[in-house]
Amino acid sequence: MAKNGSRKSVMRFITYRNAGNSWFVMKICLHFVMSQISKSKYFGPTTRASKRTAKTTTVTPAKKLGVELKENASKTKVPKIKKVSSGTAKTKLKWEPDKWEMQLENIRKMREMKDAPVDTMGCERCTQDGYTEKEKRYHILTSLMLSSQTKDHVTHGAMDKLLNHGLTVDKIVGISDKKLGELIYPVGFWKRKVEYIKKTASILKEHYDCDIPSTVETLVKLPGVGPKMAYLTMTCAWDKVVGIGVDVHVHRISNRLGWVKKKTKEPEQTRQGLEDWLPREYWKEVNWLLVGFGQQVCLPVSPKCEFCLNNQICPASTAKSKKK
Ligand code: SF4
Repeated sequence: MAKNGSRKSVMRFITYRNAGNSWFVMKICLHFVMSQISKSKYFGPTTRASKRTAKTTTVTPAKKLGVELKENASKTKVPKIKKVSSGTAKTKLKWEPDKWEMQLENIRKMREMKDAPVDTMGCERCTQDGYTEKEKRYHILTSLMLSSQTKDHVTHGAMDKLLNHGLTVDKIVGISDKKLGELIYPVGFWKRKVEYIKKTASILKEHYDCDIPSTVETLVKLPGVGPKMAYLTMTCAWDKVVGIGVDVHVHRISNRLGWVKKKTKEPEQTRQGLEDWLPREYWKEVNWLLVGFGQQVCLPVSPKCEFCLNNQICPASTAKSKKK
């Protein structure tokens, strides 16, 4: 339609201007025809509506491109998000030693016989029937005070003598230092322990109705009671596991097995290091396991690595290097 209309207009214009300058008219006509032809090369839609559609159609790929770009952008962002949320923080929070579960299981197997000194002479066993619960708690605290720097059988012997004498707060308040010394000798640092036990008995009588304190914070205020004793007292006497009792065995073995992030010098540092990663359900067991293991296999000097089930997965193993 557009082409026919253009041709008629040209013919009309040529007829009207026939008498004029024919060359000029021809030139104008030629220019007009060429412009019409060049317009007719636009094969796209001509109506406004179709132009709008065309516009939309033309934009669509751009939109698609936009989506693709967005998709691509989101694809590029995904690894970053993953990287941030994947575990960097988790790893930091969840540090735990390599193969600790296998090492713990091996120690359980080695402790199956339950024939280490701690199994028959531990603080829980240093009491007798016929005493009240309050008095039994006092026995546990006293045996822990005696056990510091002392072998289990020596502590056990001293506790036997004290129990036969009568071990209550009242009796200890009334006993002479000399007599108490005779009963507890030869535990390590027995003279200082006489002093601590007497002072503690007076405090318990005065402030705790002859019972023992029920928190770590109050227990460590008693003379001669440190964190290790306090945590073990909470576990053994009050049946509350509020921390890991770390003695020399637990401290030594934890360092040998690499159960602390960095080597520790003090048992208190080891306790904090262990509590950072060791699940709470093992806190009570780990003391009993490692103390007996330290008494029988992982000795302070010349550990029996050749008999240890952990000798291939323990960083301190002497048997591993021999096998290589
Ligand atoms: S391999 Fe040796 S150092 Fe290691 S846990 Fe066993 S006994 Fe102790």
